[in-house]
Amino acid sequence: MNILVLNCGSSSLKFQLIDSESENVLAKGICERIGIDGRISYAPYNSDKETVFKDMPTHTEAIQYVLDALMNEKSGVIKSLKEVGAVGHRVVHGGEKFTSSVIIDEEVKAAIEECNDLAPLHNPANLLGINACQKLMPDVPMAAVFDTAFHQTMPPKAYMYGLPYEYYEKYRLRRYGFHGTSHSYVSKRAAQLLGKPYDELKTIVCHLGNGASLSAVKYGKCVDTSMGLTPLEGLIMGTRCGDIDPSIIEFIANKENMGISEVMTVLNKESGVYGMSKRLSSDFRDLWKAEEEGNRYAAIALETFCYNVSKYIGSYAAAMNGVDDIVFTAGVGENDFRVREGICGNIEYLGIKFDKEANKVRGEEAVISMPDSKVKLLVIPTNEELAIARETVALISGHSA
Ligand code: ADP
Repeated sequence: MNILVLNCGSSSLKFQLIDSESENVLAKGICERIGIDGRISYAPYNSDKETVFKDMPTHTEAIQYVLDALMNEKSGVIKSLKEVGAVGHRVVHGGEKFTSSVIIDEEVKAAIEECNDLAPLHNPANLLGINACQKLMPDVPMAAVFDTAFHQTMPPKAYMYGLPYEYYEKYRLRRYGFHGTSHSYVSKRAAQLLGKPYDELKTIVCHLGNGASLSAVKYGKCVDTSMGLTPLEGLIMGTRCGDIDPSIIEFIANKENMGISEVMTVLNKESGVYGMSKRLSSDFRDLWKAEEEGNRYAAIALETFCYNVSKYIGSYAAAMNGVDDIVFTAGVGENDFRVREGICGNIEYLGIKFDKEANKVRGEEAVISMPDSKVKLLVIPTNEELAIARETVALISGHSA
């Protein structure tokens, strides 16, 4: 069965058509500048990428163009919509309501809308995508796969903030965590690669991309994660500040004569390794190049990033009373051997024997610890689209993924 996986943002929409039997990607692409002018890039598995400019006032037109591209006589990969068995939608925030993926119906849509306050930039866009798809493909079953769901197994001691309890009661203000589909996929894959039962391992997943988060997965369940109510908390990221003293917000507002939302823009978009490197770049490739050329701000940003991840790993080893394996994934985690070395060099005390040679991999599955290392280190490319496709198939066939 072919599954259309959709990831809708406010002005963009990423898509993949995946054959669930072979797990091959038949075609993928992105619609950008929805509501502005419109551009669709489409890449079938058997040919080059093509980019076309098309008017896309709303997500409905964007999805229509995606379907047209998939069925195009020349470069299409299917003949009719009958060949799309289901649609899997990535939904960012499921609040406390969704502890796993679900088949979308009216009640589910209403519950997703109730979570809009928790993710005002993302959930409304996800709903736009769902509604547009339902309009264009009314008979195709659809599933919602939540970024937060995997983390719903966290105990209160991991998700409660040290704030007045009524904020939790009134607003469900707590840690939720994100990148759950990736943390779930990668931790399960690690167990497979190690040949160990998933529910017997203590795994730390380091999802290090432009957005970055860690999770502690104990015996197959997430027990802690570094992102919080929003993706701003936790690690220093590409442009997000991660953990800071909350008083800094008032301090910057006063000194720079800014309002709260302006300060929040600084914390979300102008901080992280980008801000630390004096706005040089949020891309780790640029930062390493600058570091080699003697740029001390890039060097400090990179060193602080690695130190930060090391400290989180230490705290999650403490949280689980041990760790069996540590997995690196996402853009930086999969590709950046210097970052992995910088992180692992600081945590030998955990029983890690880092293999510098094996670590020189990029974008492929690998074990990067010595054979006698007590804690195994792995690189596993994440595949959120495949995970969403698997969840969708499992739901519509009535099994758990
Ligand atoms: P997101 O999905 O959060 O946007 P990704 O997981 O795609 O992010 O990661 C993107 C980041 O990965 C880039 O900003 C860059 O810093 C990093 N990256 C990608 N390729 C490399 C590489 N070869 N070496 C170092 N860093 C890389």
